[in-house]
Amino acid sequence: MTAKAQSTLTFHGGAGAVTGANFLLELKPASSAGKPIRLLVDCGLYQGGKVFEDQNHEPFPYDPATIDYLFVTHAHLDHVGRIPSLVRAGFRGTIYSTPPTKEIAGLMLEDSLGVMGKESRGSGKPLLYESADIATALARWQTIEYRKPFPLADSGATLIPHDAGHILGSAMYEIVRNDRRLLFTGDLGSSPSPLLHDTEIVKGINYLVMESVYGDREHDQQTTRRDRLEDVIENTMKQDGVLLIPAFSIERTQELLYELEHMTAEGRIPPVPVYLDSPLAIKVTEIYKHFQTYFNSTVADPDRLRDGIFNFPNLHKTLTTEESRAIAGTPGRKIIIAGSGMSNGGRIIHHEKHFLSNPSTALLLIGYQAAGSLGRLLEEGAKEVTILGARIPVKAKVFSISGYSAHRDGPHLLDFVHELSESLEMVYATMGEPKSSFFLAQRIRDYLGIRASVPRLGESATLDL
Ligand SMILES: [Zn+2]
Repeated sequence: MTAKAQSTLTFHGGAGAVTGANFLLELKPASSAGKPIRLLVDCGLYQGGKVFEDQNHEPFPYDPATIDYLFVTHAHLDHVGRIPSLVRAGFRGTIYSTPPTKEIAGLMLEDSLGVMGKESRGSGKPLLYESADIATALARWQTIEYRKPFPLADSGATLIPHDAGHILGSAMYEIVRNDRRLLFTGDLGSSPSPLLHDTEIVKGINYLVMESVYGDREHDQQTTRRDRLEDVIENTMKQDGVLLIPAFSIERTQELLYELEHMTAEGRIPPVPVYLDSPLAIKVTEIYKHFQTYFNSTVADPDRLRDGIFNFPNLHKTLTTEESRAIAGTPGRKIIIAGSGMSNGGRIIHHEKHFLSNPSTALLLIGYQAAGSLGRLLEEGAKEVTILGARIPVKAKVFSISGYSAHRDGPHLLDFVHELSESLEMVYATMGEPKSSFFLAQRIRDYLGIRASVPRLGESATLDL
């Protein structure tokens, strides 16, 4: 019989904030002869305004050279964006994720470096990392599969990845030792998703580190979102208008293409040109096509896959800037899908500058719009906005469909905890704005009678694991 093992969990990022996910777990050796294991879950970028983003330039609060493993839950930048910085700061361990996460993360990091390069030329701010750091990170990056146990050296602990159903390849990580279990959720999908499997329910968990982005909110019914999308398209096209959809490159864009393909094939919408005007989204969509075994059974129907679930006759993918500029000059009704999802950059702002003053235009918001973003101003009904230095009167109709969120809403986060409640001893509500996290933690205590806290940045907890 070994001595009772103990572990320390420290919240180095994603604590009291949505972004910057970075959790350090130190597994004390089970016997006096063993050596401790130090592993990180995620190493994300802080996003959302200067105060947050300045934190990306702070040194890591631990020595990266002492870390054995980094497990990555999924490829969103707020979970992977500081990995090249970690490598640059001396990390010599191995990075693990599912295969799609590795592929998409490579694209996201290169894209993020490009954006940083542009900003740094304007502000003189130093870059967080260079292209060579991304290459080093990818060379140290191995892949693991859902539900295949992975032994953590000789610590006696095992890590098991589970499907989080959030974006392609997204994983939750279960860490088991002596029949004691800790689960990191990463971001949790708003199952059922049109493309992905449902979030797995993992039983027997004692400690839960969970996301809480929408801890205090409720989404639209998922069943009605497709009808609402169809209505917006039909009404806009009837007026020979232009429908602008700012979309995030991962998941949201692929879901939209999938639904547009469906509606086109079934003749439910007129055969209008659809422009996918985002090089990143075009590349991510190619990756989605390579990982069809990750899709749910509805999508994985061989007849559907053969025809190309992200492809239909009127779809135009515009990779170059010239092709993108030419869209505005093409007459007639059309649908334009472009990034960024919150209209705080990317090609969508050029289209918004061109089309928002036209009353036949419709702008459809399908994702979270952060405070301070152009998307939030438009969502809140601004009558005039400044885009690329020009004052633009907003005559377009603005619609929001929140059912497209890739995150669970408050009631569904609570349901998730409820499913695990039998064995749960403690829940840490992380990766949310404080008011969402506190709201969720309160509900977990009041409705389920389980201890729940909102850890502060840098706070540690001792776990019986
Ligand atoms: Zn995410």
